[in-house]
Amino acid sequence: MTDRKQISIFGSTGSIGVNTVDVLLRSGGEKRFNVKVLSGGNNVKLLAQQAIKLRAGLVVTAFPNRLEELKSYIKGSGIQALAGEEALIEAACIHCDWTMSSIVGAAGIKVGLKSLEHGGLLALANKETMVCAGDLAKKLAKKHQSKIVPVDSEHSAIFQCLRGENIEEVESITLTASGGPFRNLPIDELKKVSPDEAANHPNWSMGKKISIDSASMFNKGLEVVEAHHLFSLSGDMIDVLIHPESIVHALVNFYDGSTIAQMGIPDMRSAIGFALNYPDRSFLDIKRMDLLELSALTFEKVDFNRWPSLRLAYTVIDLGGSAGVVYNAVKEEALEAYINKEIGFLDMYSCVETVIEYLECKNHFTNKNKSIDEIFENDKMARTLSQKYLKDKSL
Ligand code: NAD
Ligand code: MG
Repeated sequence: MTDRKQISIFGSTGSIGVNTVDVLLRSGGEKRFNVKVLSGGNNVKLLAQQAIKLRAGLVVTAFPNRLEELKSYIKGSGIQALAGEEALIEAACIHCDWTMSSIVGAAGIKVGLKSLEHGGLLALANKETMVCAGDLAKKLAKKHQSKIVPVDSEHSAIFQCLRGENIEEVESITLTASGGPFRNLPIDELKKVSPDEAANHPNWSMGKKISIDSASMFNKGLEVVEAHHLFSLSGDMIDVLIHPESIVHALVNFYDGSTIAQMGIPDMRSAIGFALNYPDRSFLDIKRMDLLELSALTFEKVDFNRWPSLRLAYTVIDLGGSAGVVYNAVKEEALEAYINKEIGFLDMYSCVETVIEYLECKNHFTNKNKSIDEIFENDKMARTLSQKYLKDKSL
């Protein structure tokens, strides 16, 4: 059992995490994988069940007040349990061959960066890592010879289309977006939509926050910035198309007029399985795409008036520096306020736009993020400004 692949999953109890555990179990479980670390948040019961099933060495809950309960579920199993942010960062320093980064939001950034400092492959679902710390992540990967393989379905698709290709020969890439639950809703009705309606994604089963981000198209905005960093492409080389069926995940358009697309049913286990077995492919027992079953594949132009979040993402790329950190942090604050019903759906856009414009006027974005501390200083500053805007409706 010595040559088993060493695995850690950060955020194993979330939507991506649960799918990752499922892929591991379908791919041989503990016979093939030596699971070093599993981490979660409040759902410590599930975390313990996963750890027992996969015979993990260590479980970490992000929240110290959940440690005793976590310990009670794993009593007698020999599994070690820790809690808190520091424990999480230390766990990310344990070398693994393969690490899944699937904590939601900015909370997942440090874990991803720490893992990159310790070699191996980082399967990156946490898009905030690239959006907020893309330059640093790439630098660390190069320095420590670790490999980033994207798990976001669109970026996994681009990554797969680019295998064996020369990035210099790429004219543009196209990311698809389902359009979410409000694709056809008249724009003036958007101000009334509830968080529960926004969380009801038509095609993908995902965590609540990313589902609402899909409805507001902030998710696609983050993905545009993520693609810019991952593949070193300028904003004008990244297109977005609405594709309600979510079958074509992304396309790469080459200089010779040829386009390569990656397709599949909307199931994140496909991108997770690809990253798990990279650079090989391994049999995965999930539903196959059947072209004859699909009545049509349709595409529509995106309307920046309907989705200011997407227009702002291109501004973020042009601004550079800490604009990605600010975009994400303000979005997270506005999203939290929307989930708590303190603001309406459209207020999320005005909050992000106002803070970015305010900082742009102060020439803030000329500063590059060089270190993790600078990234989190910017994150904090953007959250303070967001709170002021959300309270006073001005800055
Ligand atoms: P989720 O909300 O379902 O799960 C989040 C995980 O992070 C859980 O394990 C939770 O316990 C943990 N967590 C929450 N707050 C934490 C904190 N403060 N510290 C440490 N851990 C914490 O989220 P998800 O849908 O699985 O998404 C995870 C990441 O993957 C996000 O960045 C998302 O954008 C990205 N992603 C998700 C999907 C998807 O299909 N769900 C697709 C592409 C990319
Ligand atoms: Mg995606």
